[in-house]
Order: sequence, then C-alpha cells, then structure tokens
Amino acid sequence: MKRPPGARPRARKRFGQHFLMDAEARAAIADLVRPAPDDLVLEIGPGRGAITAPLLDRLDRLVAVEIDRRLAGQLRSRFPDPPLRLIEGDVLRLDLAALPGEEGRRCLFVVGNLPYDITAPVLFRLREHAGLVRRAVLTLQKEVAERLVAAPGSRRYGRLTVMLNQCARIDLARQIPPTAFRPVPRVDSAVVDIEFLPGRVSVVDMGRFEQIVKVAFAQRRKMLRNALAALPSPGPEGGAVAPGRLADLAGRARIDLTRRAENLSVHDYARLTGVWAESAA
Ligand code: SAM
Repeated sequence: MKRPPGARPRARKRFGQHFLMDAEARAAIADLVRPAPDDLVLEIGPGRGAITAPLLDRLDRLVAVEIDRRLAGQLRSRFPDPPLRLIEGDVLRLDLAALPGEEGRRCLFVVGNLPYDITAPVLFRLREHAGLVRRAVLTLQKEVAERLVAAPGSRRYGRLTVMLNQCARIDLARQIPPTAFRPVPRVDSAVVDIEFLPGRVSVVDMGRFEQIVKVAFAQRRKMLRNALAALPSPGPEGGAVAPGRLADLAGRARIDLTRRAENLSVHDYARLTGVWAESAA
C-alpha cells in the first residue's frame, strides 16, 4: 500500500530503530544531559527527534549524527541550523576528535538511544576518546547496562565491564520498559550515565592491559592458569608464556591462578599488566 505524502517513514530494522514514545522518559533523559560550558553535546541516532526536541528546549547548540537518510531529511526540515547541526552518516566513522573544535568547544557530552548492533563498538569508541568525552548518557538494552555496572564474580561481569570501568564511573540511571518504544522491542532498556575519567584505574601499558583482559575473557570458564597460558611471554624468548613464568608473574601481582577471569577486579588486571610490562622491559 502506498504511504500518504508526509507520513512518518516505517521503522527500519537494519538500523535498530525503536523510537521512544514515552514523554516522561524523553524528558528524564534530556534532564540528565547537563553539559559543562565547554562541552559540545552530540546526539547519536536522533531518529524522529524523541530526545532531540527536549534537548533543544534546554540547549543552544546540539550536533546529531543520523545514518538514515529519510530521517535526516525530516529532522532537517523540523529543526533549523542553528540550533541543530545534523550530520548524515555513521557515528562509527565520525571524526569525534575534530567535532568540539569545529564548534568552539573542548569536550564532548554524548547522548543517545543506541541501536543494539552498534552498542559495544560505540562504547569502545567512546573509551578510546576518554580524554575528550566527558560524559555519556546512553539508553541501552538493560542486559548490556547491567554488564557495565556488574561486580566481579557476577554472571554479567566481563571484558566490557573491565574495559569501561578502567576509565569511567558508571551509574544505572533508570529503566525503561519495552512498551515505551515503537516498535516494541523484545527486551527491557536502561539509561546509563557514564562519567569518563581516563586515569580512574591507572594502567602502565594500555596495549598490554587490553591484551591480557581479552585473552582472560576469551576462555572465561577456565581457570586463569589455563586461560592466560595463551598470552605471549613478556621476555625476549618469544612464544607463549611458560607455566612457571606465568606462576611467577601472577605471584608478584598477587593473582590466584585458580580463579577465573570474572573474579579479577580492574585493579587486579592493572597490577598484572604492571608486572608483565616490568618483566618485558
Ligand atoms: N533517538 C531516537 C529515539 O529515541 O526515538 C531513535 C533511537 S533508535 C533506537 C536508533 C537510531 O540510531 C535510529 O534513528 C537509527 O537510524 C540510528 N542509527 C543506527 N545506526 C546508526 C549509526 N551507525 N550511526 C548513526 N545513527 C545510527
């Protein structure tokens, strides 16, 4: 059936479109966006403007990036520039580092109701720019939000938890039921408030930290003695780390190798990284 001119375009599954309809939740999210004077607010995936409109009631400048050309066109005709600068494109290809300078600001305050497919890549991208992104208020699947705030030893604690908590303080701000969205998703959502603090847990060698965390969680059900055996030896000898060497390094870092990846805190991973880097030097 032909859609009448001016009708709202159908939600596109491939862009993870679930539009937030609940007015109270829209306003509550916008209320969490309290930028510092030198912050530029960036909205990821404005869609039909559910959060964009209350944000523009509160801000004099907003940059938004939307991948769907039809929605971008509608947003452009609804909101003039200024106050809204709309970038049509993929947030994962956006030059985040250049944005604040282009707008005469220093840092980014990111807000968005993220499509599931790009949630982890966006979080890792923001992490890469932890010195530039001051804060992020993100609506995510509740299950992912719970992973972000999980404590060591819990089922949801994983690589994402460790990587984000190394450089950020994360708060679960509120939950949103599926009925607040159209089309209705199959899962609950939650809003997280992420404050980036690049040296929150200090790490001497970031590349090595990332490698150790990745290898540990690649086999999260195994004891660390076995999971970490896949790491390269820190010395000039090359090849995988020998069991005796691993035991020595873990002992120096006060890590019990009979435990599992999910039992180590961010500080434990940082200490192990320090010992590893020291013996490579
Ligand atoms: N913010 C709106 C709301 O709350 O109703 C829409 C949220 S919807 C879950 C996700 C939005 O992100 C959609 O508008 C979708 O087109 C857009 N999107 C999906 N992938 C994107 C990408 N890689 N870059 C920018 N926007 C994207």
